[in-house]
Order: sequence, then structure tokens, then C-alpha cells
Amino acid sequence: MSIDQDDVNQVRVITPALPRGLSASEEETAVRSLLDQQLAALPPVAVRWYYTPMMLPFSAHVPAECIVYDCMDELSAFKNPPPGLLDRERELLAAADVVFTGGSSLYEAKKDRHDNVHAFPSSIDVAHFESARKGVIEPSDQADIAGPKLGFCGVVDERMDIDLLAALADARDDWSIVIIGPVVKIDPASLPKRDNLHFLGARDYADLPAYMSGWSAALMPFALNEATRFISPTKTPEYLAAGLPVISTRIVDVARHYGALEAVQIADTAEQFVQACERAIAKHNDISWRAAADEQLARGSWASTALSMAALIAVERATHSNIEPIVSPTRWPAPQSHHDVMVVGAGFAGAVMAERLADAGFKVLVVDRRPHIAGNAYDRRDAAGLLIHQYGPHIFHTNSDDVFAYLSRFTAWRPYEHRVLADVSGKLVPMPINRTTLNILYDAGLASEDDVEAFLADRAEPITSIRSSADVVISRVGRELYETFFRGYTRKQWGLDPSELDKSVTARVPTRASIDDRYFTDTHQAMPAEGYTRMFEKMLDHPNIELLLGVDFSQVRSGYPHDHLVFTGPIDEYFGYRLGRLPYRSLNFRHETLDCEWLQPVAVVNYPDEQVPFTRVTEYKHLTGDSSPVTSITYEYPAAEGDPYYPIPREENQALFKRYEALAIAEENVTFVGRLATYRYYNMDQVVGQALATARRLIPRLQVAGIEPSVGTAAAAAA
Ligand code: FAD
Ligand code: UDP
Repeated sequence: MSIDQDDVNQVRVITPALPRGLSASEEETAVRSLLDQQLAALPPVAVRWYYTPMMLPFSAHVPAECIVYDCMDELSAFKNPPPGLLDRERELLAAADVVFTGGSSLYEAKKDRHDNVHAFPSSIDVAHFESARKGVIEPSDQADIAGPKLGFCGVVDERMDIDLLAALADARDDWSIVIIGPVVKIDPASLPKRDNLHFLGARDYADLPAYMSGWSAALMPFALNEATRFISPTKTPEYLAAGLPVISTRIVDVARHYGALEAVQIADTAEQFVQACERAIAKHNDISWRAAADEQLARGSWASTALSMAALIAVERATHSNIEPIVSPTRWPAPQSHHDVMVVGAGFAGAVMAERLADAGFKVLVVDRRPHIAGNAYDRRDAAGLLIHQYGPHIFHTNSDDVFAYLSRFTAWRPYEHRVLADVSGKLVPMPINRTTLNILYDAGLASEDDVEAFLADRAEPITSIRSSADVVISRVGRELYETFFRGYTRKQWGLDPSELDKSVTARVPTRASIDDRYFTDTHQAMPAEGYTRMFEKMLDHPNIELLLGVDFSQVRSGYPHDHLVFTGPIDEYFGYRLGRLPYRSLNFRHETLDCEWLQPVAVVNYPDEQVPFTRVTEYKHLTGDSSPVTSITYEYPAAEGDPYYPIPREENQALFKRYEALAIAEENVTFVGRLATYRYYNMDQVVGQALATARRLIPRLQVAGIEPSVGTAAAAAA
């Protein structure tokens, strides 16, 4: 078995390697068990996606929230279809929640066989093929072929009308015909041989525009037979994007979708095909047809196809999952529907803004590129049934009665006071440093707060101007304790020495003379009783709020008109990094379930030793109150690349942020809020407080600007 991992796109291609000589059923059993082995190490499967029913027998047992049949061809019409294909397709149609067809004719063939079929005619990467219009340098194996050149790219198989190709070559020996693509299922010896007919073989997708740049027109010499009755060739829009007029035989979907374009000619006979090529070559330099073609291409972008498919899948997942749906079918917005406000991000900042605005009567669309709500606070049950925090431990604490009262509308609380131990050479001691920590480490016998102050005063180094995270600690506890608890941890966590970080970072963890070993001393300390995600569901469960999850803002910005935008993502990303990148620190999380009841005595153990690659280990049952004979934990490995989790507090970063902030202030009808959009190392409660204040200011501004709430009145907001 080989595994091809694409970490950027989170794609893993697993190719089974089987011994020779297995019977069909032995093969099926072997693949099934290899698949099970692979899946055992992965999170539960959300979607089973089938390009062909032949994959069903070894995967039908895998539970999934949604089964997609992505039907690309009428496979049974192919030459030598595998045995049992039609039976398997029947089974797949019975099991599938949603069926996508790669074109309109296929849609018509399938629409009466399933009640949730949707046509998706070819989408293409226009920018890729468009490069052919700019006169790229032709590849050497084509450059020497005399022009004018007529080209085809695609698989050469029984769908190709090879007699037509021969007739074309014979009719005009002053033209060259270039065929790019592998020859499959037919005998290469059966292909016509002519001096002006060049079969170049398969070429890389990346190189296709360069080949196309040398052509005068593009060909679709398909035979009209069973195998081509349902095709919707992607090469039609690819050719058009490359700036080439197209000559095709009468393929139903080509004639139907593209036949009206000046650039596309449909020919019924070989003679007509030749004449159409003549016309196309004569008009090669007349590009007046392109505007109409481009308009049609813009409607078939990958982004809009992906969005529509994501919507259909999300609805099915929500309907089928055991978890109460985050996205209900009725709440997926219709494309192009108008909203008063679009909110980018469904974390604390976005959810609070959405809830406040919806409550004031505004119609709100919340978009998040993650497939879930709650942002970094997202929690979920893992395979062992334990509630875990997907993006590291989130402990709620605040001194703000307002923030606590506001959130209490959406959740009950489980009282919880956070305690952290630090692993110092295998010894677990309380962190933040307090009297107990010192007594354990130094056997110091410190009996009072005064004793501790005197002990620390002996070690502390006087620093007149406290600027950095190193200064804060060294001036309070001295260099040794600083090195034990702060230097290594901070260097790992931030990739910087504490001397290079703003003092506010380590000041979050103040040393105490008392024996109070709580991590926080805030007046409110508690965990949402049913978890953060459930709390967010309640916040967003409002008739004025619709959700688009799993889609990036850039994909939907223009597709969903809105009067105002609330942006909670990274501010530099919003402005296309035009002033340079703001640095963020990232983390990788390793989630594990251990076969023991408890791993550690408290929820979080910190590992300040720089040699240990992770910073801390969290054991969730302490936080959630779950009980189980097993226990789920998370290791945190700091990283330079990845999701932007932490703004990095440094003077120079703040200076760059200020320049972005100036752009933000000038940006009409956009509000920036949250940890990433205001580049502040904020805790959850601070983000909630910031969002509440921002909403209080924004609502009257929207009203003054004449954005009338779509639903209800604004009276509620004023209350
Ligand atoms: P986020 O939660 O980051 O939400 C922003 C959302 O916007 C994301 O879901 C993102 O996918 C989405 N988004 C961004 N760009 C786009 C785009 N272009 N298109 C669509 N969607 C987009 N705070 C505490 O109070 N206590 C803790 O114990 C605590 N622990 C933490 C532990 C870790 C490991 C981390 C990283 C943070 C912790 N925090 C804690 C801080 C807390 O996570 C944040 O304060 C809070 O989540 C910030 O909320 P937000 O809405 O501003 O940002
Ligand atoms: N810190 C440290 N050692 C520790 C705990 C914290 O050096 O054992 C420093 C480190 O720089 C960290 C900062 O103090 O990033 C703030 O810690 P906190 O626990 O508040 O960070 P969080 O992960 O909650 O943002």
C-alpha cells in the first residue's frame, strides 16, 4: 500500500498493493481490510464520495454522515464495462444521499433514479488555460510542426471518431493535426497514420496551455455512439479559456451549452467539419467572440461549483448526523440572497456580532471557512465519546459581570477553577510560581507571604525600565526561576526569546507569594456545561441568522450581496497582505485517547524544558467532568506555519498592525473585530467584551446609514 500525503490540501491518496492471483472476492476482502486499517487511525468519516460504483463493495460498511455519488460518465455505455457495474450502480443510487452529475444529459439519465440529483457541468481553472492566450513559448516537440495547427487534448479511446480524423488530415495536407493524450482501450496500431497527424501522447496538465498556445483551433472529433451520448466534455470550456475556436461533432451537451457561441461550430459530416475548421482558421486572429465566451466561463468557476456542492453536502450531513444539526437545511442561504450584514468568522467575535445584529432585526449571513462554528473554542466528542477541544484547551474566566451575564443566556455553567502543574525535571510543581512551588523546588520552608517576598527579593534583578517578557520575570523572581519556568517555554511557544517579546506576554502569569495555586483569579471561572459548540449553537440559533460553513469569504464575497461586512479573520489577509504579513504563531495539536482512567492530576501540565518539543498536555476530563475508563489528551506543538492562532506581541508587529488599522478605518462599510482582525492577544472574554461594545456602536450607525433591519424592529437592540 502506498500513501501520498498532501498536507496543504489535507488530501491523502492511498493506493492498495495486492498480491497477484486473487479472485475478485478475495481482492475485495483484502482492500476492505486495508481500508479499515487506514481509517482506524483517522477521525470518523464525514463523507463517502464515489466516482464509480466499483468502489462500493469494500467501503459500503464504513459509517458516514453523507454518501455522494459523483457520476461523471454513463459507465455502462463504455466498451467492456466491468461485470456487475449496473447492479452496483443500483446499490449506490439506493445508498447515496446526494447525486452529482457531470453534465445535463447525465442529469436527465439519472434524475428519475434518485430524488436528490444535481447537475454540475464542467468547471475549469480559467486562469490556468487563459495563459495560452498570451503566447506562451510552445513546447519543442510541437514547435517544429508546421502550422496552421489544429489540436485535441484528452483521452484517445473508442469515443474518438478516428475516421473523421483521417478524413480531416487527408482533406487538408497543409494543416497539421496535433493529438495530446494517452491512447487507452483501443489498439494504437488502429490509429490512422498520416504525415500531418501527430499523436504526441499524454502531457502534464501544467503544460497544456503551452501546447494550446500554438494551435489555431481546437477539435472535438467525437464519434456519436453510446459512449458519447452522455458526455459533457470539460475540454470545451478549457479550449475557450485558452482563446481557441472549437469545432465539434454534434455532442448533445456541447451543442446545448455552447452551440450558441460564435466560437463554437457543430459539424454533422466530415465535409462540414473541414469547412468549419477552415472558417475557424480564417478567423483565428479575430477575437471578437471572446467576450461572450468569457461571460459563460465566469459562470462555471470551480469556486461556485464547490460552494453549491458544499451546501448540498452540509445539509445532508446535518440531517444525518446524530449531533443536533449546526446547519439545518432551511438555514442554508439561497445563492445571491441579500443580507443586511455578512459576518466572516463564526468564533466568539463573529457569533456575538451576529447574535446582537440579528437580535436588532438585521438579516445576517455568517461565513466560516472551517466546517464548524465556535472558531478556536470549538469542542466535539471524539471516538471515545469524550468532549475534547479541537484547538487546544479553552478555560473560561472573566472579571466582567456583563460578559458573564451575556454568555449565560446561551449556556449553563460547570464550576471549574483551573490549576496547572509544571514538569520540572520530572517533578510536578504548581504554576504560576507560588509559595508551594518554591518550597517543593528549594525545600525553602517559606511559611508566610513575607517569607516569599524576602526569598524572591534576594534573587530578583533590578531592572529600571521593564520592556520585555524577560524583564518582567527576571525583575520579580531572578534569572534561575526565569530559566526554569519561562525561558524554554516561551522560546518554544513563540519561537522567540522572552527578551524579544512584549512584557504583556509573560505578565499574564504573575508570581504569587500566597499558596493560591489557581491559574486565574477572576471572579467568574467556569466551563460551559454542555461545551462551547453547544453554546455557540444557541447563540446562532436565530431566525435572522444563516450560516455558510466550510467556505472562504473570498468564495462568497460577491455571491451574497450585503450592505455591511463584519470581518473577524486576519486583518492582513483581508487587505491582501499589501503592507506585508503580520506574524502569527501557530500550533499543531496531537489528540490521543489513552487506555487508562487518568494520565495526570490536573487538566494541564506545562513542559517548560526546551528539549521537550511540546509545551503542554491537556487532559479533558478534568475540564468537562466526563467520566470514562479511558482518557483523552492533547499535546501542543508550537509551529511557525499553519493556522494563525496567536498574534505575536512585539513593538514592530504592533507598528505594522497600526498601518493596517489605518486602512481598516478607511474601509467603508466594514467592521473589524476579534483576536485576528484587531491583532490582539485577547482571551475569550475580552473578545466577547470587544464584540458587545462594537455591536452597540455599530447598530445605530447602520440605522443612520439607512440600512433598515430586514426583520422586526431595532427596538430590541436598544434595550
Ligand atoms: P477565532 O476563534 O479565531 O475565530 C475566527 C474565525 O474566522 C475562525 O473560525 C476562522 O476560520 C474564520 N475565518 C478567518 N478568516 C476567514 C475567511 N477568510 N473566510 C471565512 N472564515 C474565516 N482564551 C481564553 O479565554 N481562555 C483560554 O483558556 C484560551 N485558551 C486558548 C488556547 C489556544 C490554543 C488558543 C489558540 C487560544 C486560546 N484562547 C483562550 C483564546 C481564544 O481562542 C480567543 O480569544 C477566541 O477564540 C478568539 O475569538 P475570535 O472570534 O476573535 O477568533
Ligand atoms: N509561560 C511560560 N511558562 C509557563 C506558562 C506560561 O513561560 O509555564 C509564558 C509563555 O510565554 C506563555 C505566556 O507565559 O506564552 C502566557 O501564558 P498563558 O498560559 O497565559 O498562555 P495561553 O496559552 O493561555 O495564551
